[in-house]
Amino acid sequence: MRPKIGVFDFTCCEGCELQILNCEDELPELIEALDFVNFREAMTGAASYYDIAFIDGACSRESEIPRLREIRDHANMVIPIGACACLGGVNCLKNVYPMDEVLKAEYGSAAPYYDTIPARPIRAVIPIDFFIPGCPIVKEEFIRVVGELLAGRTPFQPNDPVCAECKTAGNVCVFDKGMTCLGPVTRGGCKATCVTGGAVCWGCRGLIDEPNINAEKEILAKAGLSVNEIMQRFSLFNLYQEGAWK
Ligand code: SF4
Ligand code: SF4
Ligand code: SF4
Repeated sequence: MRPKIGVFDFTCCEGCELQILNCEDELPELIEALDFVNFREAMTGAASYYDIAFIDGACSRESEIPRLREIRDHANMVIPIGACACLGGVNCLKNVYPMDEVLKAEYGSAAPYYDTIPARPIRAVIPIDFFIPGCPIVKEEFIRVVGELLAGRTPFQPNDPVCAECKTAGNVCVFDKGMTCLGPVTRGGCKATCVTGGAVCWGCRGLIDEPNINAEKEILAKAGLSVNEIMQRFSLFNLYQEGAWK
């Protein structure tokens, strides 16, 4: 019996579930190994039980809370995928404003029809069994995690900072080029792809388990960032992780 898989979207751009479909070379094998029974972006159909429910997106509407609880009740494992689902992600940028102001700015006179609440990660609403971070997720990581789950193992969760992979990739540190970066406190596993591509790390994979936030704030301040700019850096993906940027 192939495990039954549900892929669900909440508040997000749906880019992380698109990454599953982007596993073009591996897709035939994935479909052979997994029984996708609910995946709105890819198929029609629904089911009443899931061995694994992958959740894309944050919870940012009142009506999403009972929907998440229902999925939890019908799933053996719940696994958030992507920064929105794992961290709240960019959706949490609205949380610093009163919700009625946010609604009015976005929807104008239609605001009363929307049940917006402060955005939060899935783990803040229901228990989760594992998570796959990133904005978007790394498709190779998705395949690895699925493989480890099918083999009955607890998947490996990277906890070294992005800097470790950045050094392995042979990059010159952006701090040496007059730029700033969240790599020292951000969970690796992306092969420092942004730095390798000429940008900096904005922390989309979330903070490592015991980040030295004060040291990171110090190096950002030494590099010339104001307190406000440092807060903005941490806020893009990690605003929900209370205390991280205060
Ligand atoms: S984590 Fe990024 S790519 Fe994934 S759904 Fe959210 S915004 Fe889109
Ligand atoms: S560029 Fe960023 S990730 Fe790379 S070593 Fe420097 S601080 Fe770390
Ligand atoms: S380098 Fe940073 S921002 Fe870029 S993918 Fe990795 S964790 Fe995300």
